[in-house]
Amino acid sequence: MISFYENFLLFANAAPPTAETVNTLTPSGWASMLCSVGAVTFAFVWCLTRVSKRNSTAETNRPAPAEQHGEHSETVAVSAVDCDGQDWEKVRTLNDLRHWNSPKTSLAVVGMPIAHSLSPRMHNAALNAINAPELAGWRYFKFEIPPDALGEALTLFHQHGFRGINLTLPHKVCALASLTRVDVFAAASGAANTLVREENGYAGYNTDGAGFVRALRETQGVTLENAVVVLLGAGGAARAIAASALDTGCRELWIGNRSAGRRAELLAQLREKKPDARATLHEFAMDAPPPAFPAGAVVVNATSLGLRDGDPSPLPAALWQRGMIAFDIVCGTGETAFLREARARGIPSVDGLPMLCWQGALAFELWTGRSAPVQVMLDALTRPPTR
Ligand code: NDP
Repeated sequence: MISFYENFLLFANAAPPTAETVNTLTPSGWASMLCSVGAVTFAFVWCLTRVSKRNSTAETNRPAPAEQHGEHSETVAVSAVDCDGQDWEKVRTLNDLRHWNSPKTSLAVVGMPIAHSLSPRMHNAALNAINAPELAGWRYFKFEIPPDALGEALTLFHQHGFRGINLTLPHKVCALASLTRVDVFAAASGAANTLVREENGYAGYNTDGAGFVRALRETQGVTLENAVVVLLGAGGAARAIAASALDTGCRELWIGNRSAGRRAELLAQLREKKPDARATLHEFAMDAPPPAFPAGAVVVNATSLGLRDGDPSPLPAALWQRGMIAFDIVCGTGETAFLREARARGIPSVDGLPMLCWQGALAFELWTGRSAPVQVMLDALTRPPTR
């Protein structure tokens, strides 16, 4: 077989026909000319095929980006339906929970609404990738539970042996009263996003703040040490990010929120729980921000603006300045107005997926005691499951 190198030489040395040579050709010259052109074309196409094959092989063989946090780097196609017929993309209800009879270990994300949640996709991909005997049969589901039924749901989850729960909107804050204990991050933020089963109930953790800090570092190479953070929102996620920003040693923390009550509550909580934080705290009403923020601020959208199509940005576009970083924690909804306006001004930006991945990776480790396959989880978030 002719080698790639030989083909390259053949192609490189073949002189293209000129107008002059074409006009003076005899029939046999024409035949030989056409043969040459055919040979050159064949060689060219063959080269291209080889190169593209070579590239695609290199793609497959290329080591995944270094796993900074986990031993697995292989990506796995995940089906939305288990071999036992369990469809984990399906939204389950309190009634499903009352009649739950799976003998296998279950995990769940609980919220309202919940249909949009990407967590089952991400965690089931991770469970598949790890392939450890002690995790065999573990599955992660999504449950839509209204706020007034959360207490009953947590009792039922515990009775049915659910190993871990992720809480999302609107449960992160009100769940605290039903937990056996909370970790420092959940205590500091007054919100829990991860529950771990214990003998008498669930312990509460908060991995949102650490997930945010890690996502910012991995995507922008930026740490919050000595940084100025402008945080838009004062809900469950904003509280966790605020506590982590103070822990990480930010210099200034600006908090803007629509309702004054919730904003004041968050500031009071931070002052009480983080008395040693070195950062100066500032607050503003969402509809009356200061005329400018300090240069180089990391601006974070932690409101739910952006979840719905057509939502406006929580930040007036005139406040974007070069040197800032835009981080929108809303995810799975396409480009938000907040990110669109930042990008239009050349501001580096991060969407909610890396934070979702990192908060999930930390939760996964709490439940399984194993390093999370971060790259697998990130890939699963950007690729729909097969059916
Ligand atoms: P909460 O309900 O606890 O908080 C919602 C926040 O959004 C509050 O500050 C609220 O202000 C504000 N808000 C809601 N509607 C408006 C509006 N129309 N105008 C201005 N502000 C508004 O929700 P969470 O903190 O749990 O979640 C917030 C967002 O973050 C959601 O989009 C969620 O999906 C996302 N998220 C992403 C994560 C990730 O990993 N990427 C993790 C966690 C959350 P007010 O107090 O005035 O009501």
